Parts: sequence; structure tokens; C-alpha cells
Amino acid sequence: MTLSGPIAEEWAAAVAAVRSLGTDDEIQLICHVNPDGDALGSMLGFGLGLARLGFTRVRATFPGEFAVPGPYSALPGSALLVPEAEAWTDPRLVAVFDVASESRLGGLAGRLTAAPVSVVLDHHASNTGFGTVRLVDSAAAATSVVAEQLLARLGVELDAEIAECLYVALATDTGSFKFDMTTVAVHELAARLIATGIRPGEISRRIFDSRPFGAMKLTGEVIGRAVLEPGAAGGRGMVWTYATLADLERHAQQPYVLDTLIDPVRAVAEADVSVVVREVAAGEWSVSLRSKGAVDVSGVAVSQGGGGHRLAAGFTGYGEAAQVVDTVRRLLDEYLN
Ligand code: AMP
Ligand code: MN
Ligand code: MN
Repeated sequence: MTLSGPIAEEWAAAVAAVRSLGTDDEIQLICHVNPDGDALGSMLGFGLGLARLGFTRVRATFPGEFAVPGPYSALPGSALLVPEAEAWTDPRLVAVFDVASESRLGGLAGRLTAAPVSVVLDHHASNTGFGTVRLVDSAAAATSVVAEQLLARLGVELDAEIAECLYVALATDTGSFKFDMTTVAVHELAARLIATGIRPGEISRRIFDSRPFGAMKLTGEVIGRAVLEPGAAGGRGMVWTYATLADLERHAQQPYVLDTLIDPVRAVAEADVSVVVREVAAGEWSVSLRSKGAVDVSGVAVSQGGGGHRLAAGFTGYGEAAQVVDTVRRLLDEYLN
């Protein structure tokens, strides 16, 4: 558990690790499974920065099926992306983005121990402390905040392509500059990114407001079955819903379209805690937990082998959707009573 940002020695070690490389040394960047805007944006923004420094063998990847969610498929730096199977097998340097625990690296976790240096850039309070150089700042709104600081220390100047990647990461992880970690420093970083000439309106339309019609219909159906339990979470209220693989199939939608399903659910005023349970494989569920402030949901997630932040966390659950929700309800009561 890290309570504040990296110390000077850690920054120095990360800078030294990059500076010790030759420009044709192999560098592997990895972000978490089912990548989101911060995972991809911080990784590709940093990868472009390495390219600006002259590094020619930078590859970026993530574990699992090589499917980039539609909203992020046109990010600058996407040319660096390769499927997991094409990741460097023996890189000189590995850098990991937005990954709280090695379990989120799937089959790529072994690359970390294989490389002489592995730099971890992250902002999860639940980060387990893996890697040889740890740039973990639990007060950072996004991993891209950490990535930008490392780029600056490496002498990389922000340009519009790097800035777009870092901006997408920042905008997605702060809920478009709404969440608690939206500090003065976040807005100052956003200002510096926008000063490169990127267009926030255009970027936002592309990543937030370009959804397939079927995704809206699917979301409508899934929201329609939401349940409000005012007595749950020690009387603070819980609202939950679930989506199955069959739901996705019926509406012919990709799994990523449900990544933002938690947003309308967590807006329910009568509940502090919101839960969305999404089937990712038969009997396997990705569980999203949110709190408005009264409950530390990362405790629940960590107890189930997951992780996250105090007010936004997740884990993988097994069985029936109702069983997974039962577990969350019981754990919340245990934590709160
Ligand atoms: P999500 O609900 O998927 O948007 O994730 C919310 C937060 O919880 C993010 O910071 C994730 O990194 C974290 N998280 C979600 N699922 C898991 C998991 N299975 N293991 C560890 N952390 C998770
Ligand atoms: Mn993430
Ligand atoms: Mn993040």
C-alpha cells in the first residue's frame, strides 16, 4: 500500500533505467487486461514519448484477446500495439501501466521477472508493490499523471499526439473531471495538454458520445432490471444490476460497451453503493463497485482478490449473478456493522 507519490530515488531509478538503454534495445509496455482509457492512454502516450527519444523497438500490449475497445481504437500511438503473442520475449525494459496487481497481467506477468528492470506506473491504493521500480501514486487521478511526470523527467516535450493519449486517460479516469481526485494539478495538467492543440470536444465526442444504437438498447434493458435495496450497506443503500453474455449476444454488442454501465447506476441518489456484475465467461463475472463516499469499496474488492480505489473498485466473481451480489451484500454488512 502506497500512501503518497514516488520518492526521489524511485524517479531517479526509472530515469536511469531508460537512459541506460540503447535506442535499438527492446522495450515492452504492458497495461491491464480489458484495457480502459487510462491503461491504453498512459501506455501509448508514454510509448510515443519513448519514440520521440529515439527508441525504435517499443511494443505495447495487454493480456487476452487483442481487441481494443472502439472508443480507443484510433488513439495516437496505436501502431505500437501488438497482440500478447507478439510481445518481446526478452525485453531489456518492461514498463507496466495502470496495473494494481500481477493478476491483471494474465499470461504476461512472467515478462516482469524475465526483464532486468520492470517499471510500474500506477495510481491504485491497492497496488501490491510488484516490479523493480515502483512509481505508484495513490493520490494521482490517473496513471497518465505519473506517466507525464516521468516523460517530463526524461526531457520529452509534450506534443499533440502524446497529449491526446494522456488527455483520454485523464478524462476517462476522472469521469470527465468530476471525481474527487480532480485537483488543481489535474486541471493544470489538462491545460498543458490542451495547449498542444488537441480538441477536447472532438475527443470527448469520440470516446464518450459515439455509441452503437444496440448498446443503448442493451443498456436500457440492463438498467430496467436494476434493484434498489435501501437497507443494504448498513442502511446507506445499494443499487445493483447485471448483464449476461446472452444479453450482449442478443443485442450483437461487444463487451466493452458495458464498461460505462456503472455510471448511470451509480447516479442513483437513494444508494451509496452501486454494483454492476458483468458476465465475462460462463459463470465468471467482472464486478464493478462504486461508493458516493460512505463506504470503502476497495476493502470488499481486495477481500475477493480484486482491487481498486476507495470509491471505485472491482473483482472477479464466480457462480450466478445473484450469488455474486449476495457476497457483496454480506461483505458490506460485515464491514459496516
Ligand atoms: P471498473 O469497475 O472495472 O471500472 O474498475 C474500477 C476500479 O477497480 C479500477 O481502478 C480497476 O483497476 C479496479 N478493478 C476492477 N476489477 C478488478 C479486478 N478484477 N482486480 C483488481 N482490480 C480491479
Ligand atoms: Mn484502469
Ligand atoms: Mn487508472
